[in-house]
Amino acid sequence: MMFSKRLKNLTPYVPGEQPRDRQYLKLNTNESPYPPSPRIKDFLENFDIQHLRLYPDPQFLKLRDKIAVCYGIKSDQVFIGNGSDEVLALSFFSFFDSSNGKLIFPEFTYSFYPVYCDFFGIDYRTIPLTRAFQIDIHGFIKRGDACGVIFSNPNAPTGVCVPFEEIIALLDKFPTDRVVVVDEAYIDFGGKSAVSLIDRYPNLLVSRTFSKSMCLAGLRLGYAMGDANLVRALFAAKDSFNSYPVDMLAQRIGEIAISDQPYYRVIQDKIITNREYLSRVLVEAGWEVLPSKANFVFVRKDGISGQEIYLKLKEKGILVRYFNISGIRDFIRITIGTKDQIDTLIREIKKWF
Ligand code: PMP
Repeated sequence: MMFSKRLKNLTPYVPGEQPRDRQYLKLNTNESPYPPSPRIKDFLENFDIQHLRLYPDPQFLKLRDKIAVCYGIKSDQVFIGNGSDEVLALSFFSFFDSSNGKLIFPEFTYSFYPVYCDFFGIDYRTIPLTRAFQIDIHGFIKRGDACGVIFSNPNAPTGVCVPFEEIIALLDKFPTDRVVVVDEAYIDFGGKSAVSLIDRYPNLLVSRTFSKSMCLAGLRLGYAMGDANLVRALFAAKDSFNSYPVDMLAQRIGEIAISDQPYYRVIQDKIITNREYLSRVLVEAGWEVLPSKANFVFVRKDGISGQEIYLKLKEKGILVRYFNISGIRDFIRITIGTKDQIDTLIREIKKWF
């Protein structure tokens, strides 16, 4: 069969497993253990299917308005996508061009970034984390010849946050015509967002998702906030590929979810409480736990590999994630579940390790 050379050269991203062979306690893909806003249920129960005859709004106007109100920004500073993965992909396409230098990102970070680089033919350079597994912002600053920079904050899979002042330092020093993308997929679990900086730095794009803190991973909805110029560029890219990537139901559900902040704040606080509880118990049991501001923790125990822990827990019906990558092989990443789920995990961990 004739496949394109482009396709042959790809190494696809591998998401966390979603096995169907048995019922697992899923602590492996950073989904929420709690249900989304109950207002969504009311909406779906009363939804008139006649609406589905028509195409959805390709400009996402109502949803962008609602997001803008939520953050005190303007609607033309908001872009929407089919999950933040799509928002990120369109950002790579729109802003990063190796004829202007290499893209830079941390050595250990969201493993989709190098995949998008391959997809769009972008050369990149990774910047090692510090010994404390922090993102080395000064390492970025030294690379003023880069075509752009992207990092997740909190970082994945470490959960470690970049202090707000360091993001400002980066934006102050990085060339103003190069885009800085901050992927805030996990920011609602205790980190300080960079969104308040978008008016001050026209080269800053902040990416967000409804998948984690809004309990809607199955909906596929993400967004980005930045200068209207950046948003226009993202629309140009989207409208050259798929005019309707976000269906009508997803747009409406997104509007309802983003307007129910009180509900979500309670959920986010629960996750934070459960995370601190799990971290404390693991530390007391002799584990190393990186300080997390996300809905997961990145942990290791001397003398056992991540894979061994993963396999034993899987046998016991609990899924966590490990990364077969030199430098982080001895860690596992555990998604924060409900208190009961965490107690189940702790029981097994104490029994086996
Ligand atoms: N950014 C990071 C750092 C992530 O971990 C994920 C989830 N895999 C995403 C973005 C994408 O999330 P989604 O496409 O569900 O919005």
